[in-house]
Amino acid sequence: MHLLTSFVNLLYPPTCVLCRANLSASGATDGALFCSGCRAGMPRCGPPVCAACGLELPGAFDAILRCARCRRFPPAFQAAAAPWRYEGTAQEALRQFKYRQRHRLGEWLADGMAAAAGARFPLDEIDLIVPVPPHWLANRLRGFDAPHHLARRLARQLGKPHARRALRRTRWTATQTRLSWTKRRRNVHGAFAAKPQMVRNRTVLLVDDVLTSGATADACARALRAAGASRVFVVTAARTPFVRRAIRNPQSAIRNACSR
Ligand SMILES: [Zn+2]
Ligand SMILES: [Zn+2]
Repeated sequence: MHLLTSFVNLLYPPTCVLCRANLSASGATDGALFCSGCRAGMPRCGPPVCAACGLELPGAFDAILRCARCRRFPPAFQAAAAPWRYEGTAQEALRQFKYRQRHRLGEWLADGMAAAAGARFPLDEIDLIVPVPPHWLANRLRGFDAPHHLARRLARQLGKPHARRALRRTRWTATQTRLSWTKRRRNVHGAFAAKPQMVRNRTVLLVDDVLTSGATADACARALRAAGASRVFVVTAARTPFVRRAIRNPQSAIRNACSR
């Protein structure tokens, strides 16, 4: 078997899933996904972060801080955590996982999520792992349910039950990419429902691939709480940094600053 693997490696040298660099040349171990450069370049979501939504707060020094938005509109979930910032190699890794359906990459991302959840949440109090139900358009276009795959691996890693059907969409919503935060919030308000028999008096770990505005996670948490869930924690593979979005789109930065 080992001989066969060596032969295949000779014909098709293993390459980094992100930059295509030859992995045997870079001395990577068998089964590695990334070259050392890409691995080192994964942007970590570092403390200090907002105690509620996990947004990075540059310059903050207090142990417990909430961002302006969470202070004004407290989310229905207890806290959100993500191992990576949604940019650079982390963004590319998620893109490859979702659109090219690289399952091993998904497992690797889920392992990072398990570590991030373990660092911030009381894992022994979590009863159930629930994925955010996929958007109909995402299903239609890719036929791939990323949150479900991440949640399944996470459930296995943490030794918790995975309840894919605990949460469902009650109506179709517009895609959120181009919407402002207020519009995103309105867009997903009441768009989810949870099964009381599955979540009542349970502490739920909600799983999604990326946390952008937090509007979807908040709407899901509201539905879970309405169905009797005692607490909801949120873990995603990546978190969009607010600042980066603002700089990229100066017009929206000005609008956001005025509307805050
Ligand atoms: Zn690479
Ligand atoms: Zn926040």
